[in-house]
Amino acid sequence: MSASARPVRAARGTELSCRSWQTEGALRCLMNNLDPEVAEDPDNLVVYGGTGRAARSWECFDAIVAALRELGDDETLLVQSGKPVGVTRTHQLAPRVLIANSLLVPQWATWEEFRRLEAAGLTMYGQMTAGSWIYIGTQGILQGTCETFAAVAERHFGGSLRGRLVITAGLGGMGGAQPLAITMNEGVALCIEVDASRLRRRLAGGWLDEVADDLEDAVRRCDLAREQGRPVSVGVVDNAAVALPALLAAGLAADVITDQTSAHDPLGGYIPEGLDPATATTLRARDPEGYVARARASMAGHCAAMVEYQHRGATVFDYGNSLREEARLGGFADAFAYPGFVPAYIRPLFCEGKGPFRWVALSGDAGDIAVTDAAIAELFPGDQRLQRWLRLAGERVRYQGLPARICWLGAGERHLAGLRFNDLVARGQVRAPLVIGRDHLDSGSVASPLRETESMRDGSDAIADWPVLNALLNCASGATWVAVHHGGGVGIGRSIHAGAQVVVDGTALAAQRAELVLSNDPASGVMRHADAGYDEARQAARERGVRIPMMRDSAG
Ligand code: NAD
Repeated sequence: MSASARPVRAARGTELSCRSWQTEGALRCLMNNLDPEVAEDPDNLVVYGGTGRAARSWECFDAIVAALRELGDDETLLVQSGKPVGVTRTHQLAPRVLIANSLLVPQWATWEEFRRLEAAGLTMYGQMTAGSWIYIGTQGILQGTCETFAAVAERHFGGSLRGRLVITAGLGGMGGAQPLAITMNEGVALCIEVDASRLRRRLAGGWLDEVADDLEDAVRRCDLAREQGRPVSVGVVDNAAVALPALLAAGLAADVITDQTSAHDPLGGYIPEGLDPATATTLRARDPEGYVARARASMAGHCAAMVEYQHRGATVFDYGNSLREEARLGGFADAFAYPGFVPAYIRPLFCEGKGPFRWVALSGDAGDIAVTDAAIAELFPGDQRLQRWLRLAGERVRYQGLPARICWLGAGERHLAGLRFNDLVARGQVRAPLVIGRDHLDSGSVASPLRETESMRDGSDAIADWPVLNALLNCASGATWVAVHHGGGVGIGRSIHAGAQVVVDGTALAAQRAELVLSNDPASGVMRHADAGYDEARQAARERGVRIPMMRDSAG
């Protein structure tokens, strides 16, 4: 946990500082994003993912808090890239907050222009759940990471990573989930991280098992665990652009290679070889162009080592951070030799509208999450993967900030969970209302040709109508707050995506919100994939009552 100069922590319990639970839910989630236990760099309002912020400045943060405290249940607050810019009269079922982050007209959508506008105080980088106030710490990515490694294990290693070595880098807010996800799949993880404080943070949080003295020591520990078939995660302080080629040169055989350094941002994120975090900060300020050139050159070497591992027979995939594109810009022509994780492993789930559904206990009471876990287990008794996840999460996940749970559910499932949760609140079986939300990395909510929509069957990777339709649909369905962002995950110019949250406070109106949003939101993912020609999505649409006007023709 970082020592923060101005610590922010969401209120717990049932006393409201806003006029209703709808606005209190948004306020607590905004504050929770900046809780020093949750955020990577709270003093600078940075939540995760390079420079993903919750508000543009502390002045804007204070103004958002004040506006939410006054907001009526027939009013809507407008937030433009982290700054509250208006309060309007709407109606009860309308969203209480509408957020747009980092959006730029396409021809101007470059990091250079973004940074110019950011320096002028006109915008901020919202990442995905940072600027839409529903980040829940590293757990938010854990089940997705587990699902990905489970799919890798199933496809290539007979269902388990036992005795297999996975090498990855980056133990930040999201990447920090990798070691636990790998050991949950029984594998051995060697994790390279350039910043010792990040490594210590993952160790303290129970995400990482061990820290090695150096690369040699890390390899020794991993080799031993591999021989013994013992799951373990070993972290080492090193630069991936140096360490990975060194491991190749030493002839270390590995089974799986990936990476979650913040490669999407060649200035504010990735640290080039030869620099430590402190010298990187100095160079970023002194010579941004020189820094970007060095970062891209390092990424070229880093990515080339991954491709060489692929040539030697390892399973290699991109983990959604733009490393391949940045390496290409750094002069490595063969960067796209290995696939992204979505087309390789996740798309079949997206076809069913399945994605990272999550919820937060506004009471602050971990007991409320236990009650919701039991409710989910009871609702979906036949889903073995889900049952296993709930058991492991209950045992191994330590909460950061407000207690929360992530759980991949699809179309025809999420609304059942939402209605059940609202009922738990109404009956007093949990101590306070719950916020239900999700990542923007989801089935129908994102256009991102280097990640979620890479290699779509019909070539529609860059079509960004879908996330905009998704956001509009969630507004029409009565989500409590809705956000549309640009540049999350893979960087400026490379993605458009949307998020939506519902506060279930036990009222009939909340039941209506939950039913509509949690049916329609994942259904839009089924539509997106059915439209792109995926039979699994068409099948899901037929089975789950998702109505698609032209599907009958195309499906025959
Ligand atoms: P973060 O900024 O919190 O962490 C990045 C980490 O990488 C930091 O700890 C940093 O010290 C480390 N790092 C930077 N350069 C390095 C180098 N050369 N060698 C070793 N370590 C280095 O970011 P995050 O939230 O963990 O996200 C990581 C990346 O993954 C981002 O690009 C993000 O957009 C992407 N992402 C992917 C998914 C997914 O589902 N696959 C989800 C969220 C984010």
